[in-house]
This record gives sequence, structure tokens and C-alpha cells, in this order.
Amino acid sequence: LFNFAAGPATLPESVILEAQAELFNYQGSGMSIMEMSHRSKEFDYVIKKAESDLRSLLSISDDYSVLFLQGGATTQFAAAPLNLCASPDTTVDYIVTGSWGDKAFKEAQKYCKPNLIWSGKAEKYTKIPCFDSLQQSPDARYLHICANETIHGVEFKDYPTPANKDSVLVADMSSNFCSKPVDVSRFGLIYAGAQKNVGPSGVTVVIVRKDLIGNAQPITPVMLDYKTHADTLSLYNTPPCFAIYICSLVFADLLKQGGLVESVRSLMNVPFTLRRPELEKTFIAEASKEGMVQLKGHRSVGGMRASIYNAMPLAGVEKLVAFMKDFQARNP
Ligand code: PLP
Repeated sequence: LFNFAAGPATLPESVILEAQAELFNYQGSGMSIMEMSHRSKEFDYVIKKAESDLRSLLSISDDYSVLFLQGGATTQFAAAPLNLCASPDTTVDYIVTGSWGDKAFKEAQKYCKPNLIWSGKAEKYTKIPCFDSLQQSPDARYLHICANETIHGVEFKDYPTPANKDSVLVADMSSNFCSKPVDVSRFGLIYAGAQKNVGPSGVTVVIVRKDLIGNAQPITPVMLDYKTHADTLSLYNTPPCFAIYICSLVFADLLKQGGLVESVRSLMNVPFTLRRPELEKTFIAEASKEGMVQLKGHRSVGGMRASIYNAMPLAGVEKLVAFMKDFQARNP
């Protein structure tokens, strides 16, 4: 079965199997991770590992806090203005490219003065604005975007830069979190519900620049104040332990696979090598017999190269992938 749900969504099979194997007996403790104190040494290890693996995956510097919170991304629609705007009179900017950005914009109206500087609604949310023509407010405290609109399927491929030096970029990355490398240093705040790319529902990841913490509006509930959670390593109250545990397995799994895909990897020319280079001639010869030709790498670098320009049908790529897996199984 292939689960195409938008969230909660499919998880790596290897992660489910790993969690299953230690469901009743976490690391020989005789207990399930679900039954343990969030202040136990076992859970302390889990949450710290989750944070450090996520930091490695996204190259998050020490200038940022990584928080594991509850309330879903929807709660962040309120937490962002409450934490970043010193008063309800603070101006902020919103770019709305779909329903989730619109919800965030509407929620912000309760806690600050958001300007809708661009909306794709008239074009049925099929566009991203041209950054040069944006009319940003000169005194905006932040510029909010939804990096990927889950309902309309619209994704920012690059990010706008806030117009003034005191403003920061804020992004809801719920539905494209950890799907590719992101330059975190371009953002003041990133938040994402886990239940699409990195875990089950129940935990929301917040990555916030440390200098933005500690200035929440006085009315901010203690659970929405980033300082509460930054000061306590996300253990102010009982966190969603099991969800964080699954996220930690997903982060480790992503790292094991080599991290987030290299941003410079070409989608057109795909050079590759074999762990046993002495098999390259056989690989090329066998592939050729199966009707896949011209796979020899350029003479200056060796190895193999699959060039997959526009006219290459999907069936060709699928056949090559199947052949590679079969060849690997036959030549361990
Ligand atoms: N933002 C985006 C982009 C979403 O896709 C979703 C949920 O699908 C949300 C926010 C709301 O997230 P949550 O259900 O975690 O509150």
C-alpha cells in the first residue's frame, strides 16, 4: 500500500519497524518509552539526540534554539506574533499564497497589526509573488510566509528578504520541513508540525533565533512563550514523549541516508559509481543487454552517468533503478 495522505502521513518503514522492536522494552529498560518519565535519563537522551540530529540535518547554528512543542502549527499562528511583537500595535507583513497562510494572517490580527502585502487568492492560489515588486511595510517586525501550501500545492523555491534590518523572515514549513536543505540563517523563526515529513502528530518543531526570545507580549500564555521552552530544553511540562521519540528515529534515518539531498545534485546528469569499481564494465555490459545504453561516465571522471533530459520517459528511469537494485543484490 502507498499512503498519499497530506498528514498525518506515511513514515519510513524502517522507523516503524525499529519502534516496533523496542515498543515494550526500550533499550533493555523493561519499559516502553511511552511509560517513562520525561525526566528519565532515557528520555533525556532521546530528546537531546533528536535536537542534535536535526541541527546536523539543517546545519542549525548555536544562534538558534530548537524547541519541541505541542498545539500543532496552528498554535504557532498565534505564538509567532505574541513572541515577536512587543505590543499589539506592532506592524508585521504577511504574504498569503494559500489557505494556511491566510489562517496565519487572520490569527495574527488578534495580537498585532498584520498587513497583507500580497495575496494569490484572486488567482486561486496558483502563484508566488515576484520579490522585487513586494511593497513591504518600512516598520514591519517580521515578514511571514507559508513555505509550502499543502492544500494548493504552491511552494516557495527561493525566499524573500525582509526590507528593513530589524525585520525577520518567519516561515511555516509544516509540509516541506526537512525535504531539502534550507539556509536557516535567513530566517528568524521556522515552525513545522511534525506529522508530514518527520514524525507523527502531536509535536511541532520550532527553530527560533535566540535574540528573538524573551520579548513576548505580557498577555502571552506561559505555554506559548518561547522563553519558557528554551530555558527548559522543551521540558517545562510533560512533552509529547512518544512523538518526539519517533521524530528522533526519523532524523537519525535521514542522516543515515546521507542527510538532505545535496542541493547541487543535477536532475539532468546523474553520475554514479559502484562500491566495487571492478564491476563497472559488467554493469555497463549487462545494462546494455537489457536495452539501457550509453551509461559509461565521461572519460575524465569515469564511473557511470545517466543523462535524463526531457525526452527520457519515466519508464526508462524506473527500469534503470530496478536494474541497479537487482545488480546490487546479485553483487553484494
Ligand atoms: N500549516 C500548514 C502548511 C499545514 O499543512 C497544516 C496542516 O496540514 C497546518 C499549518 C496546521 O497544522 P496543525 O494541524 O499541526 O495545527
